[in-house]
Amino acid sequence: MQTISKNIDQLKEKIAAAAVKADRDPEDILLLAVSKTIPTDRIKLAREAGQIDFGENRVQEAREKIPELPEDITWHLVGHLQRNKAKYCPALFDWIHSVDSVTLARELGKRYEDRGKTCKALVQVNVSGEESKFGCPPGLAEEIFTAILEENFLEAVGLMTMPPFSSDPEDSRPYFEKLREIRDGLAGRGYAQENLNELSMGMSGDFEVAIEEGATIIRIGTAVFGKRNG
Ligand SMILES: *Cc1c(COP(=O)(O)O)cnc(C)c1O
Repeated sequence: MQTISKNIDQLKEKIAAAAVKADRDPEDILLLAVSKTIPTDRIKLAREAGQIDFGENRVQEAREKIPELPEDITWHLVGHLQRNKAKYCPALFDWIHSVDSVTLARELGKRYEDRGKTCKALVQVNVSGEESKFGCPPGLAEEIFTAILEENFLEAVGLMTMPPFSSDPEDSRPYFEKLREIRDGLAGRGYAQENLNELSMGMSGDFEVAIEEGATIIRIGTAVFGKRNG
């Protein structure tokens, strides 16, 4: 437990330092603890250490874990979502970072509407064009963004990306920059700023660079919970 709360404290310090360096307010950056593969007892420890926002990347795993965890956690889906799993989302997630098609936006909109619950939604953009990554091509981001805007029970809040893996955080910078440019491009076409505030980008290895490039949500697994098995 000590380790997890110490990890979170250290992260908060690093977030604050990176924010100051970028002339930003640390309060504008949300630390999202990515708890995939982490057992519920350790997630509870993180919650007890004051962490409120947690992210999972698989619906099946989330269905098993979320009912066992405190109800005051805010849950985010950060991994790829298959359309046939959308029906499970309203019972589980308050945020979905991985909307990558118009059909998925419509399906989610319908499912959340059926439950009378609103979900914050981000368009996941595959900025690098790397084949193994999910997310839409940059050219489709606007269409998916407007599909989210059309859904009464989805609230468009911004964009998400995941750059190709690299051990050098500087390698991620151009992808973070590109996501910000895509966002600024949409803002310049007259969409409300409140629908474009969030940039979900940066993980344990590159969050400081992401903050310099404008990240408002950093998705951190390893640096909170330690190394995952497998
Ligand atoms: C696992 C995961 C993370 C966190 O990765 P770490 O390198 O452990 O911080 C962030 N985003 C997504 C989408 C993930 O699947």
